Amino acid sequence: MSIVYVRSAEYNYQTLRPVVFELLNSSGGDQICKDSRVVIKPNLLAPASPEKAIVTHPLIVKAVAEYVLEKGAKPCISDSPALGSFEKILKESGIKKALEGFDIEYAPFKESKVIDVGEPFKKIEVAADAVNADILINLPKLKTHAHMLLTLGIKNLFGCIVGMKKPEWHLRTGVDREMFAKLLVKIYQAVKPDITILDGILSMEGQGPGKAGTPREVGVLMASRNALSLDMTVCKMLGIAPDRVLTNKIAIEEGMAGADPDIDGELPEIKAFRLPEITPVVFGPKRIHGLLRRHLVQRPECNDKICKLCGECWKYCPAQAIEHDNKKIRFDYDKCIRCYCCIEVCPHGALKSKETVTGKIARNVLKLK
Ligand code: SF4
Ligand code: SF4
Repeated sequence: MSIVYVRSAEYNYQTLRPVVFELLNSSGGDQICKDSRVVIKPNLLAPASPEKAIVTHPLIVKAVAEYVLEKGAKPCISDSPALGSFEKILKESGIKKALEGFDIEYAPFKESKVIDVGEPFKKIEVAADAVNADILINLPKLKTHAHMLLTLGIKNLFGCIVGMKKPEWHLRTGVDREMFAKLLVKIYQAVKPDITILDGILSMEGQGPGKAGTPREVGVLMASRNALSLDMTVCKMLGIAPDRVLTNKIAIEEGMAGADPDIDGELPEIKAFRLPEITPVVFGPKRIHGLLRRHLVQRPECNDKICKLCGECWKYCPAQAIEHDNKKIRFDYDKCIRCYCCIEVCPHGALKSKETVTGKIARNVLKLK
């Protein structure tokens, strides 16, 4: 049975460092050998300061890097961000500054390696540096996610899909959230992180995972060798059924180890954590899916007063469903596959997902949460 270590913590380096060291000692840090290459993969979604709760906090990255250096190993901080340059994110997040003077490599994921993950995707391309690392340390941030409800340990590894391959996968899995969850589980199995530490000190609720979300103090760090166990434990802490996070559901259905973890430490009960509304209503014959999607599934909407017409959303949209003139943007809801990447990448928090009236009725009738 896998163990999830739960500790209360705050962003004060004097007290945080020993907690992170203890978590690493307990959850696989002993595997780190002298001269081994250790890839540290935080959530580096977009350029944002730590108080926005969008990226993994710099002090957690610092403590992990220091631990790796003390083992005589070689840490490298890597990710493939959805928005903005890797350098800009390291600067704005405060990670570069926090790690000043440390002998650390920074390298965005660039090269991919093809891994055969079996049906239904067969071959997927994941970051070669993540797969080839001696040790991979996964550092997710606890955040809500308009498409997948929450982004936790397993979802954080979508960053191991390099660059514009991400929107391609969104397009391939389309509106089918379970299919996307299946892909995430396959990526998890392909890259096999050795240790996962979740930054849940300042989390994000509401319309996460980008600038439209709201920071929320939770005050928790969690660590495990098994990211599924960790994700299950977060659901327990938030009081939500674990299978509402579809990666958990798929992993359980596939009989993966870790669905019934032991918890070491005191798991707080976090009440009224605001989740995004998700209407998973696409059913019946394929030919009516477009119609159902248009009328039932929540759609991205823009607040024109906030939108700066910066173009990030239409450049990223995998379905090319965003049109614009010099006044505002418009969505083609027939083309839109409801991946919510536009909400994720909007640097100004102008986009939100909104339920349709028919979707709300369907959700109530079908008693979906
Ligand atoms: S919605 Fe956001 S990303 Fe899109 S153009 Fe407006 S400000 Fe930029
Ligand atoms: S408009 Fe937004 S939600 Fe729709 S496909 Fe494009 S990025 Fe995804």
